[in-house]
Amino acid sequence: MLPADLVIENASELLTIRGASSRPKTGKSMSSLGIIRDGAVAVSSGKISWVGASDRLRGSVRVGPRTKVIDASGRVVMPGLIDCHTHLVFAGSREREWLDRLSGRRSRGATGILSTVSATRRASDSELTKLALANLGSMLSSGTTTAEAKSGYGLSIRDELRILGILGRLGAMQPVEIVPTFLGAHAVPGEFDGSASYTRFVIDDMLPRVVRQGIAKYCDVFCERGAFTADESLDILRACKAEGLKPRIHTDEFSDIGGTDVANKVHAASADHLDAITQDGVRNIKAAGSIAVLMPGVPFFLCSDAYADARGLIDAGIPVALATDFNPGTCPCLSLQFIVSLACIKLGMSPAEALSAVTINAAHAIGMADTIGSIEAGKQADIVIMDVGDHRLVPYGIARNSVRTVIKRGRIVVQG
Ligand SMILES: [Zn+2]
Repeated sequence: MLPADLVIENASELLTIRGASSRPKTGKSMSSLGIIRDGAVAVSSGKISWVGASDRLRGSVRVGPRTKVIDASGRVVMPGLIDCHTHLVFAGSREREWLDRLSGRRSRGATGILSTVSATRRASDSELTKLALANLGSMLSSGTTTAEAKSGYGLSIRDELRILGILGRLGAMQPVEIVPTFLGAHAVPGEFDGSASYTRFVIDDMLPRVVRQGIAKYCDVFCERGAFTADESLDILRACKAEGLKPRIHTDEFSDIGGTDVANKVHAASADHLDAITQDGVRNIKAAGSIAVLMPGVPFFLCSDAYADARGLIDAGIPVALATDFNPGTCPCLSLQFIVSLACIKLGMSPAEALSAVTINAAHAIGMADTIGSIEAGKQADIVIMDVGDHRLVPYGIARNSVRTVIKRGRIVVQG
């Protein structure tokens, strides 16, 4: 028996979230966190080597003189949080637009996604990298150890490739693991006269370059009025899928224009937003086998009451994940802990359901449930220690950062 590199013991609650690595949690199983009271975890070579009760730890694991021992008395120990939908790389901010919205004024000048596209195109690689690193630091300190991140603020071949290239390099520059998604179809840039001609450009000119460089794992499209129609979304996602990129879709954020049907036709890994989903939409997502990624930070930030029907989706047996949708226009929030609070308050989810949604179900949404999302022997040691003794206090402490320690691949990367 080799000595463990790290052990965490005496956790008041160890949330293992076990038993859902092959299939995401649905229905009642979302409420089950696999809690071990007075729990312990051992880590060797970056992986979880043992999980159990603290009084069995030393009979099962060799704790040597070089083993780092963390006493988690009075604290919750849980898997690292997974943010499965972010728009990480961009320049500029959009507070003017937000303030106009708050005061009921019509925004003047450049607004919306295209204003961020202009700022992003003007920024250098090093400026974009510096901004993203600051945001990743904030995500990590609030417990996020893995994040999906999309391009989509470039909308030219040069700038989309640039953003995906930066996303690839960011993973090696700091601890948060990044899963890159190609979102060339985020908006129609000003140099095109409509979504139809830009859709052809994304498929014929942009996609082959992205594929050749091997810099994206997923592809995504913004299927919405004023962005891309259902037919265009279907064409883009089918073309991407044929090139080996797994599809996901922004759909039913403000209106139902057939995006859930597209999700079903391409068997999207995830269908994201769903604030305006209909009963037909629920049936489509169920048939698609997609994870429903809900982002209550968006209606919250937009002062809207149109929240996704999380209860209806869970009751229909659809696996639900939660994400920030971190972006400058509709949700500049980096904290999944806050999103978990919003899910309890605005979506009617229980703390246990919401925590399943930011761990194992989020891992499924990005195709990584075999390595992360739960605390089980053999998985990567991505672990968060919370400064509260009961998991229900994580969402209860609205906007509080309860993180004390963050461990990524067995290494302590945040020490509170
Ligand atoms: Zn988004």
